Formats: sequence, structure tokens, C-alpha cells
Amino acid sequence: MTTVTVWNEYRHERNDEEAREVYPEGIHATIADFLEDEGFETRTATLDEPEHGLTEEVLDDTDVLTWWGHEAHDEVEDEIVERVHERVLSGMGLLVLHSGHFSKIFKRLMGTTCDLKWRNEGEKERLWLVEPGHPIAEGVPESIEVPEAEMYGERFDVPAPDTLVFNSWFEGGEVFRSGCCYRRGSGRVFYFRPGHETYPIYKQPEIQKVVANAVSWATPISNSDTSFGNVPKPPEDG
Ligand code: ZN
Repeated sequence: MTTVTVWNEYRHERNDEEAREVYPEGIHATIADFLEDEGFETRTATLDEPEHGLTEEVLDDTDVLTWWGHEAHDEVEDEIVERVHERVLSGMGLLVLHSGHFSKIFKRLMGTTCDLKWRNEGEKERLWLVEPGHPIAEGVPESIEVPEAEMYGERFDVPAPDTLVFNSWFEGGEVFRSGCCYRRGSGRVFYFRPGHETYPIYKQPEIQKVVANAVSWATPISNSDTSFGNVPKPPEDG
């Protein structure tokens, strides 16, 4: 069974009333709950725990890590970023959600600024499924409407994704690559845009479906570990 660690910065929901009303137990609790309903084994981890809840033991038992952060990216210790980075290269799946675009781990994996345009006025967003044959698209409608969202607009400064699964349109006319697949080493990385802390976006069934599909897609296969270095020449045939 796939084991998911749902990581959350968990600051807005404690310090900001608007966010607390939407996610009283924290964004991580909502995400872990619906992933558990989808049949995944889940645990949560947050910034203010020792080692941000991401000890070697926890990561040993993590197939896929989901990442939500916003106002405290800088407080994530470089040592933990390094640890997560190594895990991704050796096969752990990583889902980077919404404002996680500016997390240290995502910038490290992308190698670019990961910057974008934004505006938070509760505009309507429509996600278009542009790769309907992709595993992340399983059971997902051709388009998903998010009634109120923070706008993210291009240019989104990331490398061209290996596969682009969703494109977003916003009421103001901007567009955004909102579902991007990457491979880094043996690991699979999915960036998924929706999910601002003051809108109940992770309570939408279609959004939950995408996140669950992405967890399945990012789950490592059993032999993703590989070996490197000097090797003896194979013996010649008889
Ligand atoms: Zn946001």
C-alpha cells in the first residue's frame, strides 16, 4: 500500500481567522483525510515539529510526500531540504501544491526561480484537462471550475514540464500551466496549482480526485533504486 506523508507549513490556519474557518484542523488534515478515504495510508508532518516532522524514519516509510507552504518557506532547514531532495532522486514521489511553488525543495528540483504573477481577488478559475490519456486524468472531467481562487498567471518560471496535464484560465484572462509532471532522478514530481488557504478548494471532489491520482502516479516502483560507479566487464561468452 502506498504511504503518503502530507506536509504542511501550518501557520495561516493557526494565525489567521479566515484560514482557520476554512481549514480548522489545518490544510494537512483535510488532505490526509481524503487521501485516506481513497485507500492510501497517510500521516501528517508540519514545520514546527522537530526536523519539520520529516525524520529519516518518517521518510524511510514515505512513498509520496505532499508539500503545502506559503509564508515560512525560509524557515525550512536546508538540511531537511537536502534530505528530501536525495529521497526524490532515489524514487520518492513529491506533490507540490499551490504556493509550494516557492518552496526551497521545488526551486532546488527545478533550478529556476519558480516565480509567477498573482492576484488574490476571489476570481473564478477553470482548469482544462489537456492530456486526457494521462494517469492523473483518470475519472477527471474535461474541465474543473473553482468558483473562487487566487489567480496565478504566466510566465511561470519553471522548466518545460515532461507532461502538462492541466492548463488554467482565470476570469481576468490570464492562463497558467497548473498541472506539471517532472522526473528528477528516479522520482516523479507533480506541481498542482489549486489550493489557496482561504478558499475551500481541497474540499472539492474533482480537486481531491486529481491529488489522489497524482499520488498513485508518483508512487515509486519497487526497483527504482539504482547503482553507479566502476563495474567489472561481464565475462565473454563461452
Ligand atoms: Zn495562495
